[in-house]
Amino acid sequence: MPEAGTEPPVLSIAQVVPCTEAEGPGKRFAVWFQGCPLRCPGCCNPEFLPFAGGEPRAVAELAGWMERTRDADGIEGLTLLGGEPFAHAPGAAALAGVARGLGLSVMVFSGYTLEQLRGRPDPAIADLLARTDILVDGPYLQAQPDTERRWVGSRNQRIHFLTDWYRYDDRWRRRNTLEIRLIDGELSVNGFPARDAVGLWKGWARTPAPTAGADTR
Ligand code: SF4
Repeated sequence: MPEAGTEPPVLSIAQVVPCTEAEGPGKRFAVWFQGCPLRCPGCCNPEFLPFAGGEPRAVAELAGWMERTRDADGIEGLTLLGGEPFAHAPGAAALAGVARGLGLSVMVFSGYTLEQLRGRPDPAIADLLARTDILVDGPYLQAQPDTERRWVGSRNQRIHFLTDWYRYDDRWRRRNTLEIRLIDGELSVNGFPARDAVGLWKGWARTPAPTAGADTR
């Protein structure tokens, strides 16, 4: 994992969906990082695993986009996914701090367990954990699909409520949600599909993250 730095973070972003209900409680601003060191068989975002590629996005740019979406769409939180957010910890922690400053909650999906993360001597990882309200942890295990907990991929993964903001309520007990958008002729897919639907959309073009200020709704 990268060491914490002092430069203003520029994030390597694979995808942004500014208002989604498929990546955690309520309406959320979802950011996928480009690059994950893990290789879970059956990962539903294999194109997000290489650290090469992605689009460089300044934290300030994403902050402005997040604030506009909060005001326009009433999002309640930021969700960070991968790729692996903790492999981008300095930038991810900075973005989580901005979200907190905007009155938004922070949810993070990680392939590492909470114990592994707490065992890393990286202050940026500690910063990101300190700014996280919900952590869904652990690698995705293809043989253990979770059909009971919405937004969670496999049964080994745990939901850690690291603050009092959320609790396990009825919203978590629904089936997984998949959102498909058609924007200007391009398909955008996010959420976690039923097991039989994994990969059905592969070959469809993902929508690249639009430029700041673009109307993405
Ligand atoms: S940690 Fe997540 S992004 Fe990385 S390989 Fe596993 S499922 Fe895919």
